[in-house]
Amino acid sequence: MTKPDPTTDGRQALLAFLTTHDDDAGCGRTREVLDVYAEEILAGLDPADRWPGVAVHLRVCGPCADDLAGLLALA
Ligand SMILES: [Zn+2]
Repeated sequence: MTKPDPTTDGRQALLAFLTTHDDDAGCGRTREVLDVYAEEILAGLDPADRWPGVAVHLRVCGPCADDLAGLLALA
């Protein structure tokens, strides 16, 4: 069995973090537009076109993704 190289893993994780962080709209901005974001999804549109930074954030932030799921579940 080969042990995973922690150095490589750490570097890749950091790189992934830096890459996503670059475009990440953040919690504040995401919550500002989350209502409209959910409405657009429900209307069959792709809100990621309008708010790519929010789409990125929803992929990396569990609480915001949960909020969006809650809005979609209420509709
Ligand atoms: Zn968030």
